[in-house]
Amino acid sequence: MTLCLICTHPAEQPRTACTRCEHRIRGWLGEIPRQMVLLTASLELGTRPAQGYGGTGRAHSPLPVRGDVLSLLGPAAPGPVRDTAGDQGGPPPVHAVLHAWADQLAEDLGHLLPPINPRGAYGAYLARHLDHTVRAPWIALFHAELADLVRRIRAVTSTEPRRRPADAPCPGCDAWGLGRTDWETYLDCEVCGLLLTVDEYETHRATVMPGLARTALGILHATAVPELAHTALGITRTVQEAS
Ligand SMILES: [Zn+2]
Ligand SMILES: [Zn+2]
Repeated sequence: MTLCLICTHPAEQPRTACTRCEHRIRGWLGEIPRQMVLLTASLELGTRPAQGYGGTGRAHSPLPVRGDVLSLLGPAAPGPVRDTAGDQGGPPPVHAVLHAWADQLAEDLGHLLPPINPRGAYGAYLARHLDHTVRAPWIALFHAELADLVRRIRAVTSTEPRRRPADAPCPGCDAWGLGRTDWETYLDCEVCGLLLTVDEYETHRATVMPGLARTALGILHATAVPELAHTALGITRTVQEAS
């Protein structure tokens, strides 16, 4: 056992990041291409996508294009983007951050960075080799830069994934910490970091929920609220008959 360099929770050797941090990074790498569509839509004069999906946020800029969006979209550089001359003004664009880390990864893996269709596609390369990255000594810096990038993007698009809490307790720690965040493939536990696929969660839920319902009924009886318990029992029976 070792400690995750990002969150200091336990991680299995030779990992340098725990599975939960890996999960979050994978989520960001999947989110960025989706956000790029919103970013591009925000570049036009005085436009801003609706607040989240379905809101009405709108801002107007006196510039022909929005400077904050332009700094994120950045120019399409033909080669690796490294600020060796220190002439990068302001925070680096999305493309530059992903490209620089893809370069680092390719170097680690001992191959040339494959020719990649630019603009966000480096994210797919980084995601594909994430199993190496979570064993790299530079994982914490990569995580920090990616977190900053995602924060800057979300500030422009006013869109961030929502988390939906799950109703069954975690099979790993028994706490109610499970939930699923938009654009992520697993449910994760905020308490112990356990990851479950949707199928695994549904199987677990089907196993534990009837027992929990019986326990809740028992508590209602024990706390002398027989009317409520009776009503709850009736609802449970109705649901069972209907299913
Ligand atoms: Zn971690
Ligand atoms: Zn848990």
